[in-house]
Amino acid sequence: MSAPSDAQRMEKIVSLCKRRGFIFQSSEIYGGLNGAWDYGPLGVELKRNLKNYWWRVMVHERDDVVGMDGSILTHPAVLKASGHVEGFSDPMIDCRTCKSHLRADQLVEKKGVKQCPNCGGKDLTEARQFNLMFETHVGAAAEESSIAYLRPETAQSIFVQFKNILEVSRKKLPFGIAQIGKAFRNEINPRNFTFRSREFEQMELEYFCRAEEGMKWLDYWLEERLKFYENIGLVRASLHVLNVPDAERAFYSKGTYDIEYDFPFGRQELEGVAYRTDYDLLQHQKASAKSLEYFDDETKQRFIPHVVEPSAGVDRTILALICNAYAEDKAPNDKGELESRIVLRFHPRMAPIKCAVFPLLKNKEPLVVKAKEIVALLRPHMTVFYDEGGAIGRRYRRQDEIGTPFGVTIDFETLGEKNPALRDTVTLRDRDSMQQERIAIQDLPVILRERIR
Ligand code: ATP
Repeated sequence: MSAPSDAQRMEKIVSLCKRRGFIFQSSEIYGGLNGAWDYGPLGVELKRNLKNYWWRVMVHERDDVVGMDGSILTHPAVLKASGHVEGFSDPMIDCRTCKSHLRADQLVEKKGVKQCPNCGGKDLTEARQFNLMFETHVGAAAEESSIAYLRPETAQSIFVQFKNILEVSRKKLPFGIAQIGKAFRNEINPRNFTFRSREFEQMELEYFCRAEEGMKWLDYWLEERLKFYENIGLVRASLHVLNVPDAERAFYSKGTYDIEYDFPFGRQELEGVAYRTDYDLLQHQKASAKSLEYFDDETKQRFIPHVVEPSAGVDRTILALICNAYAEDKAPNDKGELESRIVLRFHPRMAPIKCAVFPLLKNKEPLVVKAKEIVALLRPHMTVFYDEGGAIGRRYRRQDEIGTPFGVTIDFETLGEKNPALRDTVTLRDRDSMQQERIAIQDLPVILRERIR
């Protein structure tokens, strides 16, 4: 099979996501809502695995980080103080020929003339600023005083709750507050599948420290985050670090790295790791007239901590995981002939279903009974899928396509009919090597748990 081009590869990925229940277009039966996506039965498992793993390494396995879960509806004063109401916008240009709205950086330039990327039209408006925040009204009266925003990032509620969390957690600098949750941006042009959506999820950490240590923690978090991506199975060679140049950084940031991934549609940002200085806390202290200072017991000094922020996108990481995992190769069918297969090579830690359980034949009751016992044995430890329908090769293929790393088959040896020594053993098949090993049923939970952790 020749390697598909990047565009073909992306098309195949989008179609697999729909066919197998990872990601659907939102409101599809009504024609779809642009920039919004629904995750199906497998997509939601993949997403949970990603978020749980992030939470595990960023919060549970550390002494210096606590979590929070803030509201999506945000008081306008918060976003005025943070600068979002005034400045959270992208330059927008309209094409007068095809009427499309474009982000200024999406124009294509041919022979020094800017053109619409959709129709090639050259009749374009001047750029104007378009604020990306979704505004809504709280309560019955739709007047100025009732405006609220859907948060454009999760970070602001962390800054606003900084003092409360500092008091209840009794943490000393440096320490962090982590949050996973939805964010909303009215993107001018959502595109590249889920990559640029209007509703998405973020995994953010605000790590508070002393001013003199800001640059040190910036580098520390960059390394931690790169390790994270490798630990969920992204290939290191497809990850890149962009040291964002002075002119392109937010004015308050003293250093920002973008972690980028080679998507089939190009190299694009997965996560930003930014040293935001004391900007946000200072802004909120000024605007609220409430002290957001930290008191250092030892030096008896009061000051506003600085902050380093690793900010990752759940949906972009999910897309990277799927793109990274997608492969086409050849596998033998039941007659031993090689057939092409689609396989998602997810890291077992991320795979939506960890283990599939197959009785060799569905009309042999002792095989089915044993298989169901094994399902019950494994279920408390992991996601398991039971499948008794069709030839065994076809059943393997269906699991390969959704990235299930392990398959357990219950055969006649399991019943000990030919060789009593093999009673209560099963074959354990590895998705990638397609190798099978014979394992005692009682050892399965320990062996599999070790491999999926
Ligand atoms: P971009 O330049 O691609 O618009 P950004 O630099 O504005 O992204 P940040 O404000 O740094 O993004 O947000 C942190 C992370 O949130 C991003 O790295 C990305 O993973 C995620 N994110 C931001 N906007 C979107 C979006 N529209 N759809 C999906 N994920 C997003």
